[in-house]
Amino acid sequence: MSELVLAARGVEKSFQQGKVLVPALRGVDLELRGGEFVALVGPSGSGKTTFLNLAGALDAPSAGELEVLGKRVAGLSRAERAELRLRAIGFVFQAYNLVPVLTARENVEFVLELQGVGAERRARAGEVLEELGLGELAGRRPAELSGGQQQRVAVARAVAARPRLVLADEPTANLDGENAEVLMHLMRDLRDRHGMTFLFSTHDPRVVAHAVRVVTLVDGRVARDEPRPGEAPHEILPGIGKAEAARV
Ligand code: ADP
Ligand code: MG
Repeated sequence: MSELVLAARGVEKSFQQGKVLVPALRGVDLELRGGEFVALVGPSGSGKTTFLNLAGALDAPSAGELEVLGKRVAGLSRAERAELRLRAIGFVFQAYNLVPVLTARENVEFVLELQGVGAERRARAGEVLEELGLGELAGRRPAELSGGQQQRVAVARAVAARPRLVLADEPTANLDGENAEVLMHLMRDLRDRHGMTFLFSTHDPRVVAHAVRVVTLVDGRVARDEPRPGEAPHEILPGIGKAEAARV
């Protein structure tokens, strides 16, 4: 089996809303392994964003055990959580969240700089933008790009340092069907080429269709966890390299 990227056991998370404690997650059990491509679905308010934030070590669970890349999130200090995010996790958000005054290339380089990438930053940013079909647009600022192109820059930024885990919270929610398709293809290519693990939330059945495994949250619990019909369970692994795949 490939590496365990994420292990959640009985994960709970509650939020204080005024005087009431609102349970967002009520005992989530989930394991993700290297190279998986997983859709997280479920009604609005079911806890998808909360779970992605925990998986990204942006926050710690209220109860239960959560390990991300072998580290117990609850046992980490704020600084250690930030370090884990910077080194090993990429984020893509619904609203792109690019820095408006920077070009596409500078948006990618800026994050690589935070990640401690030195002189090869510029070349690496160029490569990853090329990989996402944005080579010609590297010098443009976000306002000079379409929504679909901006989200591709956001994906480039998220994967430039080759994180092991990429988390995307409704990455296609602001895109039309065609751009959503392009984005999903590119993400799947990244996973196939580099063996990155993807967990993305969505409401769109056309986006779910790209997943290899679909996890459904209802009221803060995993109600279903199944390979997408038509995808053999072991198809989740070819991204990890032949030698490793042969052992599965
Ligand atoms: P989803 O992404 O599936 O729509 P969320 O994870 O955003 O669901 O929300 C799950 C529940 O947790 C909701 O009831 C929401 O109101 C609550 N919640 C989420 N984040 C917070 C927060 N920061 N403060 C208070 N309540 C929150
Ligand atoms: Mg959400």
